[in-house]
Amino acid sequence: MEFRSTRGAPEAIGFSAALRRGLAPDGGLYVPTRWPSFELADFDGAESLPEVAERLLAPFAAGDPLESQLGAIVREAFDFPAPLVSVLDERLFVLELFHGPTAAFKDFGARFLAACFARLRREGEPSLNILVATSGDTGGAVAAAFHRRPGMAVTVLFPDGLVSPTQERQLTCWGDNVRSFAVRGTFDDCQRMVKEAFVDPALLARCALSSANSINLGRLLPQAVYYAATSLQFRRRTGRTLSFIIPSGNLGNAVACIWARSMGLPIGEVILAHNANRTVPDFLRSGTLQARASVATLASAMDVGNPSNLERLRAMFPELAALRGAVRATSIDDAAIRERITVDHARFGMIWCPHTAVGAETWANLAASERDAHPWCVVATASPAKFPEIVEPLIGGKVPVPPALAELLGRPTRRESLDASLTELREALLQQ
Ligand SMILES: *Cc1c(COP(=O)(O)O)cnc(C)c1O
Repeated sequence: MEFRSTRGAPEAIGFSAALRRGLAPDGGLYVPTRWPSFELADFDGAESLPEVAERLLAPFAAGDPLESQLGAIVREAFDFPAPLVSVLDERLFVLELFHGPTAAFKDFGARFLAACFARLRREGEPSLNILVATSGDTGGAVAAAFHRRPGMAVTVLFPDGLVSPTQERQLTCWGDNVRSFAVRGTFDDCQRMVKEAFVDPALLARCALSSANSINLGRLLPQAVYYAATSLQFRRRTGRTLSFIIPSGNLGNAVACIWARSMGLPIGEVILAHNANRTVPDFLRSGTLQARASVATLASAMDVGNPSNLERLRAMFPELAALRGAVRATSIDDAAIRERITVDHARFGMIWCPHTAVGAETWANLAASERDAHPWCVVATASPAKFPEIVEPLIGGKVPVPPALAELLGRPTRRESLDASLTELREALLQQ
């Protein structure tokens, strides 16, 4: 299988080359040149995430140096569950994607990418430095996935004082081959510094830099696996088709779901549930794409004003009418997020993180006829235990902390500081 840029450059490259590059040279994102098509019977006997992953991803790795190792990669990456939990009978479910090491769905993509990079490394190559800017969850997931891997180091940049205390602990509790820098600036500054580092001649000459950001195909593709496995299990058990409501920011999680559906998996409707950053819902309504500066919300991992993976969605559905037929989108404000956390805790006994609450609120706002038309699944993108500062006052009690997260939060932390300038970042990278 080969992959090509969304911006139309004719060059097509293989799976592992696309993983290493991240962004295409013309600034576009890599997408498959053709789509494999599956029958349900193709997954007969495949129940677990690794079993489904191996069959679903095989066509993408075909002909690539990683092909023969795909089984080992998916067994290593998908070593924690993604349970589908009933919220309301057979009508509303939640897909819990937060049982990995850092308690958010980003663990799936980060662990898959790390397992691939580890196998692509050749003896004697200089150590690979994964540079990542984070507004919260990505940095922790990437640090966890690459921690203590030989020949690889991680440099995390996060905006000082602008991540939650719990998130900061997750970004700074690693040590060994992971360095975490609190940047005196915003998330946008962190992202700019990473971009500048990748084209800085002094750094290029001395460091093997690589990225693990969410536009990397190696993070997006594995996310199709939990949609495939969940929808297959649901179809086998009930004979019905599950529809998904996906809390969205950069749209990586949602595009993976739509990719799974287009490959033939039994997935019904897909709704992109956004917070007050309403670029995507506005675009679907008006037909005019207007990127904006992001606004800060309670669901901060979704504070994106210019979602990068929209480009992949538009490449798939170039006509607006087709795009509107493929997805819907909603926008939920902070007041509704708060209210939903309180109400659903009282009504269902469920505790949502602020991102998941955007999905739950979207379901609650559907017309009754739509809620009755078919079963729905809200995707839980993070554990509420990552956001106790927000959630605990709303439910009037403590959020239970999963053991793996408790272990992380109990570790000693270590952080360094940086001004928001390439000069400082360059110095820090060159002296290690
Ligand atoms: C990253 C993230 C999102 C948004 O996912 P996208 O793939 O960027 O749409 C939603 N919720 C949580 C908890 C996240 O960490």
